[in-house]
Amino acid sequence: MITLTNNALQILRDRYLLKDKNRNVLETPEQMFRRVARFVASAEEDNIKWETKFFELMSKLEFLPNSPTLMNAGVIKGQLSACFVLPVKDSLEDIFSTLKNSALIHQSGGGTGFNFSELRPKGDWVTSSGGTSSGPVAFMKIYDAATEYVKQGGKRRGANMGILNINHPDIEEFINSKSDDRIIQNFNISVGITDDFMKAVQKDLYWDLINPRTKTIAKTIKALHLWENIVQQAWKTGDPGLVFLDIINAYNPLPDSGKIQSTNPCGEVPLLDYESCNLGSINLSKLVIVSSNTPRINWVKLADLIAVSIRFLDNIISVNHYLLPEIEAITKAHRKIGLGVMGWAELLIQLEIPYASDEAVQLAEKLMNFIKENSYKASSQLAKEKGAFPQWGNSHYLNDIKLRNATCNSIAPTGTISVIANTSYSIEPLFALAYDRVGILGGKTQTEMNSLFVQKMNVSGLWNQKLKKEILEHGSLDNIDLVPDEVKKLFKTSLEIPWRYHLLHQKAFQKYTDNAVSKTVNLPENATITDVSEIYYTAWKYQLKGITTYRYGSKDRQVLQKCNLN
Ligand code: UDP
Repeated sequence: MITLTNNALQILRDRYLLKDKNRNVLETPEQMFRRVARFVASAEEDNIKWETKFFELMSKLEFLPNSPTLMNAGVIKGQLSACFVLPVKDSLEDIFSTLKNSALIHQSGGGTGFNFSELRPKGDWVTSSGGTSSGPVAFMKIYDAATEYVKQGGKRRGANMGILNINHPDIEEFINSKSDDRIIQNFNISVGITDDFMKAVQKDLYWDLINPRTKTIAKTIKALHLWENIVQQAWKTGDPGLVFLDIINAYNPLPDSGKIQSTNPCGEVPLLDYESCNLGSINLSKLVIVSSNTPRINWVKLADLIAVSIRFLDNIISVNHYLLPEIEAITKAHRKIGLGVMGWAELLIQLEIPYASDEAVQLAEKLMNFIKENSYKASSQLAKEKGAFPQWGNSHYLNDIKLRNATCNSIAPTGTISVIANTSYSIEPLFALAYDRVGILGGKTQTEMNSLFVQKMNVSGLWNQKLKKEILEHGSLDNIDLVPDEVKKLFKTSLEIPWRYHLLHQKAFQKYTDNAVSKTVNLPENATITDVSEIYYTAWKYQLKGITTYRYGSKDRQVLQKCNLN
């Protein structure tokens, strides 16, 4: 028996379960998991054994792969990966051929990242037409419009990451490009930052903007001026985030294959041009055992889940349908996968450790270290059984163990799969104890109440209609006298957690994640521009690979919002 919440069932029916052409649902959730398990196990010699294991993993909601795998596995030409990076070269032909390829990826449920820095700046000379170039931001608007119309096969909104490096002449236009909430909505944008730039900010130096076509200096500007522009816009709209290119490339396992210039849309996977990556997440809220009244993590079960999940994700590379020969070639050469987690906040609550505590941060390190070690162990066992990834000889691992996968771990946002698994998003704190989730593509708005909280209140005999009403109104326990202080501490929500703890959790998980961590530092409406500046600067100091903040209410349309009781 699979236990799913009503919200989960609704999402599955709306977007995941197979339908006929009259939109009649053709399968149950159980049949969906069976379809996925069978298809992914078809990469195995002993496919029956692995189908059973994969089915068990998913139907118990202990692990779920990224959405495209659930939607498309076993379907003819089913594309199963969530993450792609495509090149944007400086010619009209290349720009539009990448646009076409990204439309195909969106249609299949995948998201695309691009670095636009090779494009010549606005107003630069164009030999073939004798005219002038429109520049990267204008082309981003075209990509955005195309994304809007493709809508990822009607199942997901198109997701893109757009990056421009900090030394591009159009960087100021880029930084300000989302100041109007209606423009470039289908993009997260990030500035590609280098350590040299950060040092120039520290020392208040001038900074050169270089024309990528001529390699000459187009303009010189105070680094601090650019920095202030970035944080001001991020405070106002949430964009741009930062992507730290030097640290990303310091950890590039395949430097001979090229420099990494971009990540996928939510930032958890830095990828080379044409690489794709498929993700999956372990549901940490299912890992607590209570013995003699002390809750603790079931490490044995976790090790087991990791081994099967890594195998699952590796199989996807073998059975996937690739939309382009370039994507197939490099994806199969590197076999990158990203196993991550969801339900971290709920695990902490079950262990009675407040998110905003050093104990939680230490546990984050210990846990992710364990996941990394066991992921690498599983990947190296797969290498023995099925062979190392073909480019292993050119990788950083030459003197080390043979691996099946060039990367193993990513912390994805788990925007939908955590709802299916009925747990908290990724490594995020609880967003609120009750909130409205705005329907995607015109779907109904759903009110969600944290079930762990309801359970806890029931056990302590504190649950009643009055409390429920107050929580629906406020979304948190801050001003509710009825609830004891230890419980309040445990159920602190995202906006009540000091930003430093948001960053410390990201840092702890990043330390043992070979790809990257997608995390949003959620800030209350009254957070200041100086707060954002400090957060962005600390993110660099902490050697994070990227940073995103979001100040409550700074977009007209946001996916999670406090309940509207009217
Ligand atoms: N993604 C996308 N469109 C979406 C949501 C996600 O293309 O509407 C891609 C994007 O690359 C993102 C990745 O899927 O970084 C993982 O996102 P998430 O974990 O939220 O996906 P889920 O599997 O929960 O749907």
